[in-house]
Amino acid sequence: MKRYERIVIKVGTTIIAGESGRIDRDRARSLAEQVASARRRGVDVALVSSGAIAAGMEKLGMGARPEDVETLQAVAAVGQGLLLRMYTDMLGDCGVTAGQLLLTQHDMTHRQQYLNARRTMGRLFAMGVVPVINENDTVATEEITFGDNDTLAALVASLADADLLVLLTDTEGLYTANPREHQDATLLDRVECITGDIESLAGEPGSELSSGGMYSKVQAAKVAVTSGVPTVIADGRKTGIVSDILDGKPVGTYFPASRRVRSKKHWIGYARRTRGRLSVDGGAAKAVEDEGGSLLPAGVVEVEGEFGVGDCVDIIGPGDRPIGRGLTSYGAGEARRIMGLRTGEVSDVLGEEGCEIIHRDVLVVFDGDD
Ligand code: GLU
Repeated sequence: MKRYERIVIKVGTTIIAGESGRIDRDRARSLAEQVASARRRGVDVALVSSGAIAAGMEKLGMGARPEDVETLQAVAAVGQGLLLRMYTDMLGDCGVTAGQLLLTQHDMTHRQQYLNARRTMGRLFAMGVVPVINENDTVATEEITFGDNDTLAALVASLADADLLVLLTDTEGLYTANPREHQDATLLDRVECITGDIESLAGEPGSELSSGGMYSKVQAAKVAVTSGVPTVIADGRKTGIVSDILDGKPVGTYFPASRRVRSKKHWIGYARRTRGRLSVDGGAAKAVEDEGGSLLPAGVVEVEGEFGVGDCVDIIGPGDRPIGRGLTSYGAGEARRIMGLRTGEVSDVLGEEGCEIIHRDVLVVFDGDD
C-alpha cells in the first residue's frame, strides 16, 4: 500500500455549503477531524477550501448567488475571514494549527512569487501547520468565474510537491454518464489517461452555488497528473473519506500520475483558457521552440482575438501549427500595432519602451508528443 506523505485536499462550495447555501458546520467539523487524523498519521495536509462566497452570502443575508464578478469578489471578502475563523477554531479543537494562504494563478506564473509561496508552504509543513488555501478573490477571478478552486488546488498540489491531490465533491467520482440522469451510469474507479472521451464524460459546469462541476475537476486532475501528482475525485459527503483514501480503500476515481513535465510552467499550457492567437514567422518559431527564447514583436505576423495584458494566447507557427502558449505583455490592440516591429521601434509607436510580447518565463512550448 502506498504511504502518502503530503496530500492536498480540496473541498468545493457544494461540500462546504451543501444544498441550503449556508455553511454546513457539521461537515466542516468532520472535515477538520479528518485533516487532524491525517496529521496524526504523520501526513502533511494542505486544505484548499471554497466557501468564502457562501459564508459572505450567509452573513449578508443574500438568498441567491450574485451574478456579477465585482459583487462576488465583495461577498468573498466578507466571507473569507469568517471561513478562516471557522477552520482555525475547528482545527484548533482537534489540536491542529491553521495558517491562511490566499493565492492566484498569477502568483504561480511569476517565478519570485511562486518560489515565495513554495517556501512559505514548506515552512508551514515543517511547523506542523495546515495551510488553509483559497483563491485571493479580491484580485483574481479565475476560480469565481469557472472552477471553484479546482485548478488552484491542482497548482497548489504541484507547488507543494504533494504525492496526492484529493478533490472532494458531491458525487462518488467520475461516472460513465451523468448519474443524476442515467440510472445505468457506472463509476470509473481508475482513469489511466485523460482523453477527450474522458473529458466529455465530465459534461458541462453546473450547480447554482459554485462555479465548478465535474468538468473543472477533470481539468484539474489533468493539470495535477501532468505535473506528477496522482489525483482522486471522491465523495466529500462521506464521513471518513480521507482516511479511506489514506488506507488505500477503493473509493472514488483515481487518476495515476503521468510523466512529469519538465517545466513548472506546464500549467499555462493546460490550465488556462486562451483568448487569442499570435501567428509567428519561421524565425520566431525557431527561437521559441528550439532556443527557449521569448516571443518578440518582430516575429509576429498576425494577431487574432481580443485579449488583455496577462491573458493566455496560443502561439501558431507557419503552416497553422500550434507551437505553445503564453501570457502576453500587450493587449490585442497594442499587439496589432507593434507586430513586425523591432523592439527598438516599438517606442515610436507606443511612446514607451518595447518589450517581448511573451516573455520566456511565461511561455510554454508544446512537446512534440502533446
Ligand atoms: N474562492 C471562491 C470561494 O471560496 C470560489 C468558490 C466559487 O466559485 O463558488 O467562495
